Amino acid sequence: MSNMRYISTRGQAPELGFADVLLAGLATDGGLYVPTEWPSLPSLPTGDYASLAAAVMRPYVIQDGAVGDIDEAAFEAMCRDAYATFRHPATVPLVQIGPNEWIMELFHGPTLAFKDVALQLVGRLFDHVLSARNERVMIVGATSGDTGSAAIDGVKACNNVDIVILYPAGRVSDVQRRQMTTVDSPNVHTVAIDGTFDDCQDLVKAMFNDAQFRNELNLSAVNSINWARVMAQTVYYVAAIDALGDQPVSFSVPTGNFGNVLAGWIAREMGASIDSLIVGSNKNDILTRFFESHQMVADGVVPTLSPSMDIQVSSNFERLLFEMNDRDGAVTAHQLSTFRSTGQLAVEPDQFATWAAPVFKAARCNDELTLSTMADVYRESGMLIDPHTAVGVSAARQLRGQKEDQSRDSGVPVVTLATAHPAKFPDAVIKATGVHPNLPEHLADLLERPERTNNVANDLAAVQAFVRSVAR
Ligand SMILES: *Cc1c(COP(=O)(O)O)cnc(C)c1O
Repeated sequence: MSNMRYISTRGQAPELGFADVLLAGLATDGGLYVPTEWPSLPSLPTGDYASLAAAVMRPYVIQDGAVGDIDEAAFEAMCRDAYATFRHPATVPLVQIGPNEWIMELFHGPTLAFKDVALQLVGRLFDHVLSARNERVMIVGATSGDTGSAAIDGVKACNNVDIVILYPAGRVSDVQRRQMTTVDSPNVHTVAIDGTFDDCQDLVKAMFNDAQFRNELNLSAVNSINWARVMAQTVYYVAAIDALGDQPVSFSVPTGNFGNVLAGWIAREMGASIDSLIVGSNKNDILTRFFESHQMVADGVVPTLSPSMDIQVSSNFERLLFEMNDRDGAVTAHQLSTFRSTGQLAVEPDQFATWAAPVFKAARCNDELTLSTMADVYRESGMLIDPHTAVGVSAARQLRGQKEDQSRDSGVPVVTLATAHPAKFPDAVIKATGVHPNLPEHLADLLERPERTNNVANDLAAVQAFVRSVAR
């Protein structure tokens, strides 16, 4: 029994156990929860991905004492069920694309994006804790594509969770919309808003800010700052190193909110043999600029071929910042409020040298380079990759080509995390390679399935009335 406790990165929220952190998402002081210490990796079990997942996450999850706490047998069963939804016998297979160059395919889950790895588990964790406590939640969220479908699929079988996802009418791709609107479960509701993605996000924020509404419906979110999502993503780093024979490995990660690459940093803190973590940005390169200059400077967002990485501020960066500040919540909170008011945040050279320089590298990749990388990989290995994955491959290749890095990196395998299936982004794939990427068999009839959605005006009262009407 570990009974891990969790603290907020802003130092003002109560310390909680795993089940409460799971349901809370954000801490009451606006911070993000992190465990009080990083446990060491266990000796790894032989066997499938689900067994590895249960072993790696065990010290974070297994507790007893309070209603809803999760025991070992229940957790193993949840891992088994979650990863049984992946349609590849290796769950997250490694594919070689060049000398010392690999891709880890994280997209064999139900919605074809890496977010399934975490959300298939998180949905099951939510249902377990809620049913033990005899509670229900209403998850509300806004999506511009990937997150909504992965969240819906993660909770569609949950008895104690309802979900309402808002998306901008006419502004998400056919595949992305249908992955949400064709899910036939009584607890799943999609709403087409007559507006933009920002309008949808504003409506969701306004619902959370309405304390009476929030409490009445027990509103909840499963966004990427939820600790359980980050935790579930540490596992595939360990799996990749294990598959490559337990040698030092570098990872290149197409990055948006910094959740995925942060999970790699945590795996390294736990003892995984990670050499460097390469942060791949598209034209929205706030993180790459940070790792080059030690300064975070906010800038506008521009649309790119890799839309799931079109972000202005990476919310999970706060967890790394907290470490850089030697876990001082007050300093972290102060830096973040300065960043909110001035759009700038700088860290001291020694903080950067201790925490970031030994591990993180960064590169950027614009749309042109994204397309040419997709074309290169197709020509070299016959493999179609999606535009997000291409940003990762390009970042890895740019850094490998850098002179001062050759000695250090020679012989170290680089694994790029493939975050989406190419069929999720057919237009970019066709543009780069001339080849139409086919949907996998289980989704082959997606474009013929009946859709179920609701059109609601871009108006808070109308959306709230809708959410009330579907609450069970
Ligand atoms: C969400 C997403 C990303 C970005 O991941 P972060 O954890 O936010 O850095 C990259 N690629 C795809 C396909 C995604 O859906």
